[in-house]
This record gives sequence, structure tokens and C-alpha cells, in this order.
Amino acid sequence: MDTDVLVVGAGPTGMTLANELLTAGVSTVVVDRLSRRSALSKAGGVQSRTLEMLDQRGLLEPLLATGDHPVATGHFAGVPLPHPSDRHRLPWRSVPQVVIEGFFEDHLAALGLHIRRDHELVGLAQDGTGVTATFADGTSLRSRYLVAADGGHSTVRSLLRAAFPGEPGTLTIIAADVRLDGADPSASHTWNEDGHWAAMFPLGTDVQGRPLRRLVLGGPGMSLPRETPVTEDDIRDGLKTVFGSRVQLLELCYARRITNASRQAEQYRHGRVFLAGDAAHVHLPLGAQGMNTGMQDAFNLGWKLGAAVRGWAPTGLLDTYHAERHPVGAAVLRNVRAQSLLMDWAGTRDPEVLAAREIFTDLAQLPDVQSHLANLMSGMAVRYPMPGAAASSDPLLGLPVPDLDLGGVRVHELLRAGRGVLLDPEDAYASVAAGFSGRVDRVGRGGATGPLLVRPDGYVCWAGSAWLGPALREWFGEPSV
Ligand SMILES: Cc1cc2nc3c(=O)[nH]c(=O)nc-3n(C[C@H](O)[C@H](O)[C@H](O)COP(=O)(O)OP(=O)(O)OC[C@H]3O[C@@H](n4cnc5c(N)ncnc54)[C@H](O)[C@@H]3O)c2cc1C
Repeated sequence: MDTDVLVVGAGPTGMTLANELLTAGVSTVVVDRLSRRSALSKAGGVQSRTLEMLDQRGLLEPLLATGDHPVATGHFAGVPLPHPSDRHRLPWRSVPQVVIEGFFEDHLAALGLHIRRDHELVGLAQDGTGVTATFADGTSLRSRYLVAADGGHSTVRSLLRAAFPGEPGTLTIIAADVRLDGADPSASHTWNEDGHWAAMFPLGTDVQGRPLRRLVLGGPGMSLPRETPVTEDDIRDGLKTVFGSRVQLLELCYARRITNASRQAEQYRHGRVFLAGDAAHVHLPLGAQGMNTGMQDAFNLGWKLGAAVRGWAPTGLLDTYHAERHPVGAAVLRNVRAQSLLMDWAGTRDPEVLAAREIFTDLAQLPDVQSHLANLMSGMAVRYPMPGAAASSDPLLGLPVPDLDLGGVRVHELLRAGRGVLLDPEDAYASVAAGFSGRVDRVGRGGATGPLLVRPDGYVCWAGSAWLGPALREWFGEPSV
């Protein structure tokens, strides 16, 4: 083997995964076909659950220290969603994807992992022990596992002939990074009478400290083929149609047309090859979910591959990646479809759609509805099935562990080493946990909670009212003697 895991693609999914693999002590190679990092901002926002996961690895503070990354309000179908403070200690942050990619690339380099650029994967073959990848320059590399983090047009997915069902794009809209005069400083969505609309979000500042914004425009007559270049006149015309002369374009930094294609891989696992991020699911970038879902795929998969390579993975652990993440991806596609309809992105002004939107907007003012939608969009609603702990009805089971303060140390800080954590406030489980040292850190304090077992990705997999032994075996394999 040349390496334990080959990660194809150095976007946010691939680099998050590489960090998880290094944390798990697994040798990793990351390749990308680009000779240098893309300068395109693409995603503009990081959701609560992704922020929590970064915090659990000690990466959140250094990421936020890279610049001005304001807290912003999320939305569902254009209706703003304040984040309820009970679950959202870390509310939505405006951090452009380009900043996240730069941060991860530097962080990985500091750990000794340098991305192999100009490395385009063109072929792969797998057998019982590993995967052989071949590159455009004729070289090849053999690994135990390969992860396709190579984006929506994934070469790996094509080479596998993996089913990628869904709907092709039927319309395009414009997404642009701009400086504007006269625009509302916060996030906003505006529709006009004839079906044209504009959405705007803060994107931090440019190198001279001036506020940048993500502007999204659509409506009748604006859906041109994806490859058609976006001109300054397109942006000016779109702004004029929606805002009249109130909002003016000062500078256009970058723009592209994006489609509403919606597809999801049928299987995320193909033997020793795994699909993650946009390689596994594509949809309209609505409500800041694509990059976030990909990074959360990586957090889910990283420790499981680490366990498999290190030899302690229980039977079936790698299959839980598909079992847990496929429903999450499907739910994202579903909510994007619903938002796209309610927002009337096609600009149809269909009276039935407008009526549904009016009723939805009223409903979305109810605190319970806001809380439900905020949890849905932020990833905080994700609850994984925990089969080994079926007997327990603890409300935390399967959910992200709350970041409890355990008298001077937070639970998220305990997860930094990428191992499981057993909160054992009454020191009752020392002997049963002893065989799992190195995989699970037992912490003899808690107080704010009963005993909890937390996976390396921060999800509660056991909660104190059933036998601990089976849960430890379910997620952490056989005890060492
Ligand atoms: C305008 C816009 C706005 C968006 N806004 C948001 C947002 O606010 N929040 C959000 O969460 N998401 C947003 N998204 C979606 C987000 O950008 C994507 O979901 C994200 O880029 C997916 O990350 P990834 O790492 O899976 O794939 P990618 O970022 O596509 O990275 C794939 C990498 O693989 C490399 N690669 C491809 N093929 C090969 C090959 N054969 N060999 C080697 N390397 C290869 C590519 O060069 C690339 O670097 C937005 C997207 C757009 C276009």
C-alpha cells in the first residue's frame, strides 16, 4: 500500500475528511486536478452543526480568527430564522468557502499533509485488499480505501457507474459576489410583482475591508444556459428590475449561473470506495447546505475509516456511513425542493404557489415552527439511529452531544483527540471501559448530565439506562484484554 486512504478532491469535503483521518492516525493522500486552489467563494455560510464539529477538533477559533466572519440569520424559503439559543450555541457564520479551503490547506500542511495538485484521477480498480487509482500523468497509487470528494461531476462516481438518480436542471439563476450601494446590510429576500427576485447575504469583507455580498438573482427571462457568461449589465438589469434605482452595483467580483439539478447517489459505499459531499448529492445552493452537508459527511466517515484501518472497527461500522448519511442527504434534497417551490424561483407567479407561500410565511412566525426549521437547516436536527441502545428512551440518544460545561472543561474540548468519550460522573464504569482505552476516554465528571457515551463525531450513542458493554462493542469493537 502507498497509503491507507486516498482522498480524491481538495474541496471542503476532502480536506475535512483528511483532517479527520490524520486525527485518527491514518496515513492519507489528498489529490486534486487543479494546479492551485480555486479562488471562487462559492458557499458563504457555515451552519451550527458544522461549527460545532470544527470546535470539537479545536479548529473553530483559528478559523474565525482568519477575518471578519459575522453571525448571520439563516432562512427557510426566504423567511428569516433566528437561532434558538438552547441548541444553537454557535449560530450561523458567514465564512466564504474559499476561506475555509485556504484555512484547511494551511492546517493540513502544518500537519505534514501537502495536497498533490495537478493530479487528475482517470481510472480506478479495486480488489479484496485495496484500490488502485491511476492519474492523467500515467502514475498510479494504491490505498486500502478511496474516498470520492471530487464534486458534483465526480469522475470516481462515473468510473464506478454508480447510480445517481434525480432530476436534471430545468432553470438557471445568477449567483454573484458583489459590492453594492444602497443595499440592506443584513440578509434579505425581495420579490417584485412580475416574478423577479433577489436574495442577498453578507460575505464578510474584501482585502481592503469593504463589505462584500452574495447576490442571487432570478425570474422570468433570466434562465439562460449555464455556460452563458454573466455580465455587469446582467447584474445591473436584475437589480433595476427588483429595486429600481435604490440599489447600485459598485463592483462585480465573480458571477456564475447555477442550475436546480437535484440528484443523489443511490449507494454511498461501493466496496472500498466511498462517495462524499457533492459527489454524493447535488442540489440548488439554498439555505447554505451543500458544503455543510459534505463536511458533515466527512466527519461521519473519517473516524469509521480510521477504525477500519487501525483494525478495531466492529462488523458493519463502515456500512453505517451510508445508513446514516444517505437519509440526511435525501432530507436536504427534499427541503431544497420545498424551498424552491415556495420561493417561486422560476418566477411563475402561479397563484397557488403564492397562496401557499403566504400561509407558510404566517406559519413560520410561530416559535415552534421557527425552532423546527432552524434545527433542520443547521444540521442540529440530525438524529442517527442507535440500534444497540434501542432500550433507552433518553432524549439525547442519536443527537449531537450538548457542549456541557463540566467544571472548567467543555464536552467539545474532550472530543479533540478524535476518540470516543464516556462521561461517567459517578465513576461507575471504570472496569467495563478499561478494555477500550485508546478508543474511548472515560471522564469521571459530568454533573450536568447522567452517564453518556459519545462517538468521535460527537453523537450520543448510549445514555445510561441500559448495559454499557453492548454499546461499547457496537461502536468501538472488541475490548482488548
Ligand atoms: C454560488 C454557490 C453558492 C453556494 N453557497 C453555499 C452555502 O452558502 N453553503 C453551503 O453549504 N454550500 C453552498 N454551495 C455549495 C458548495 O459550494 C458545494 O456543496 C461544495 O463546494 C461541495 O464541496 P465538495 O468538497 O464536496 O466538492 P467541490 O468543492 O466541488 O470540490 C471537488 C474537488 O475535486 C476536484 N476534482 C474533481 N475531479 C477530480 C479528479 N478527477 N481528480 C482529482 N481531483 C478532482 C476539484 O478540482 C475540486 O477541487 C454553494 C455553491 C455555489 C455554486
